[in-house]
Amino acid sequence: MPTIIAHIDAMGRPRVKALDMNMEKPLLAIRNLSYHYGDIQALFRANLTVCEGQIVSIVGANGSGKTTLMKAVAGLLRPVQGEIRYQAESIQTLPVHEVVRRGLIYVPEGMKTFPLMSVLENLEVGAYVSRDQKASRLSFVFELFPVLAEKQSHLAKSLSGGQKRMLTLARGLMSGARLLMLDDPFLGLSPRDVNRLCNTLRQIRRRGHTLFMAGQHVRRILRVATRAYLVEQGRITLSGTGDQLLDHPHLQESLLGIIAEAG
Ligand code: ATP
Repeated sequence: MPTIIAHIDAMGRPRVKALDMNMEKPLLAIRNLSYHYGDIQALFRANLTVCEGQIVSIVGANGSGKTTLMKAVAGLLRPVQGEIRYQAESIQTLPVHEVVRRGLIYVPEGMKTFPLMSVLENLEVGAYVSRDQKASRLSFVFELFPVLAEKQSHLAKSLSGGQKRMLTLARGLMSGARLLMLDDPFLGLSPRDVNRLCNTLRQIRRRGHTLFMAGQHVRRILRVATRAYLVEQGRITLSGTGDQLLDHPHLQESLLGIIAEAG
């Protein structure tokens, strides 16, 4: 049973040392990760673990550091201080293509499709980095998203917003994702599409993929999570199960406005 950590004090120091009782096998382990944009420090010695087969969510206010953390893992921000271990290998100095080659796929917030290419061509672009299992991956994504199979010859620009989001996610899976990192996957979706996507994420997990996601839809993103973290001003201040975080008074207090707005 994961243990919740106490939140930080007024000086920004954790009141209780983080306890991580999760005995599952870590796929990704972020240790003391710091990152600066020039003079601005965006991450302060962040620690976070994603175990094999989990859905791990990170929530926080605008500008708290969620995207910075994901981009650092994806190899898009260099150099970083601290360590990023993936499958027991340090990857914090690797370039993006090497990170991708290891199955760590980042789907950024608002990722676009290629509008003038067909749905199938968009998926084939995803498979470009790893072509060996293209056919089996294609049948997997078509099983997950039957509408993409139906519309495979249509231009991507003709899809609805929810369908375009499915296509970007499917493209990530076509790249051979072992760990799929989704930045704000629910952004701009209708409540119905958000529900569908939550179910799809659980299905993706059942098929052996690990998911790490960030977002403003705090309730949704925590409910779907098997493990979750709160980040505040670049510091991880709470961790626990999604439900533990959702019920935690500090999270409710710090994200009240966001919870009320986005649900
Ligand atoms: P949001 O939910 O709005 O996407 P976030 O939690 O993902 O926010 P980040 O985008 O990681 O937060 O930003 C963390 C901090 O780093 C913020 O203070 C932000 O202003 C700063 N920051 C982000 N990108 C840059 C950049 N390219 N140059 C300078 N500062 C940046």
